[in-house]
Amino acid sequence: MEYDEFDGPDGVPVRMPTSDDYRTCAECGADCYPDPSISVDGQGARMAFVCPEHGVQSIVDPFEDQR
Ligand SMILES: [Zn+2]
Repeated sequence: MEYDEFDGPDGVPVRMPTSDDYRTCAECGADCYPDPSISVDGQGARMAFVCPEHGVQSIVDPFEDQR
């Protein structure tokens, strides 16, 4: 996955995927909303995108290759 990188509030680089696919529902095409309360493994760096009707569509992990 490709990422855009930009400076976050504390000088920490923030990266988001360059494609919008991660936030579009595969079933209805709606914009999914980010749900930070969903944490896959307790690391907290991942962000789930949720369709109001179809549930979680994707999990974005901006720090995937830094582990
Ligand atoms: Zn949907």
